[in-house]
Amino acid sequence: TPGGSSRAKEEKIFVTVRVRPLSKKELAVRDDIAWECADSQTIIYKGPSQDRAAPTSYTFDKVFGPACQTDVVYEEGAKDVAMSALTGINATIFAYGQTSSGKTFTMRGVTESAVSDIYRHIDNTPEREFVIKISAMEIYNEVVKDLLRPDSGPLRLLDDPEKGTIVEKLQEEIAKDSQHLRHLISICEEQRQVGETALNDTSSRSHQIIRLTLESRLREVSGCVKSFVASLNFVDLAGSERAAQTHAIGARLKEGCHINRSLLTLTTVIRKLSSEKRSGHIPYRDSKLTRILQLSLGGNARTAIICTMSPALTHVEQSRNTLFFATCAK
Ligand code: ADP
Ligand code: MG
Repeated sequence: TPGGSSRAKEEKIFVTVRVRPLSKKELAVRDDIAWECADSQTIIYKGPSQDRAAPTSYTFDKVFGPACQTDVVYEEGAKDVAMSALTGINATIFAYGQTSSGKTFTMRGVTESAVSDIYRHIDNTPEREFVIKISAMEIYNEVVKDLLRPDSGPLRLLDDPEKGTIVEKLQEEIAKDSQHLRHLISICEEQRQVGETALNDTSSRSHQIIRLTLESRLREVSGCVKSFVASLNFVDLAGSERAAQTHAIGARLKEGCHINRSLLTLTTVIRKLSSEKRSGHIPYRDSKLTRILQLSLGGNARTAIICTMSPALTHVEQSRNTLFFATCAK
């Protein structure tokens, strides 16, 4: 099919929205709450009337209010997609939202829950033999860095006729057990934090991908064994304010200013994958992030996007942008 997407038509992207509690900072300035979850799928604007053209009600696959714990966000917003990677279907979970809306907080919890679930599944499936591998990278200014080998330089992307785009020399570790896997994940997180202090807002500008490769096959069967291999990607995106100028785009992208190419291309790719017609060219090749994730976005793949937002009135414009993106993605 055009753009290389053979994703089944009914396989929609699962889109949820999580509203965090007011932060200490927001409370300190007596910011108001501008959003309310009307039911499990609807979020409504309840602030003072503003832009008459802006919708006041938005519906998604699920919405999670400020009191909702991350394990529930995982169960209802990511688990099905994540677990499909155990049966050979590539899966990607994204956190999308403005800086300080809760992406990293949510992604950490979701990754942690998924790891628990994967090992629970392994324990409950003695007839199969599993191999779990992990690799992790950060994309900052279209430069890819290995989060498991912090001293390594920028990594190149190569096109492999069979595997698609591969990240050259990316370190991949085999996880011996769940504890080892958690340890490796914590190394990646520490690494990202080091970058954050060195260059103050790296995390708002960079994308982090933690990729698990899940392989399994039946034990004690000779001959033609049915094996599964799939990757499960956890993607903590750059702050969405980096793509907020989406509407006034085009020429400005070439100036290369503060617009984040990977984030912008991702939003275009997702919008195109979600559109009814799904026709036309899908510009995976326009950014590092979308090249790396191509086989996990189109093709034999499932995707969940958790959009995070602040409930505060002062952030209403950014929150609307996030809800607009979420609406296009579903
Ligand atoms: P982002 O990664 O989007 O920039 P963070 O995940 O770092 O945002 O969240 C910003 C702050 O808000 C952090 O201190 C985090 O612990 C807190 N936070 C985010 N979401 C929640 C939540 N749902 N409940 C409680 N605290 C949260
Ligand atoms: Mg973050």
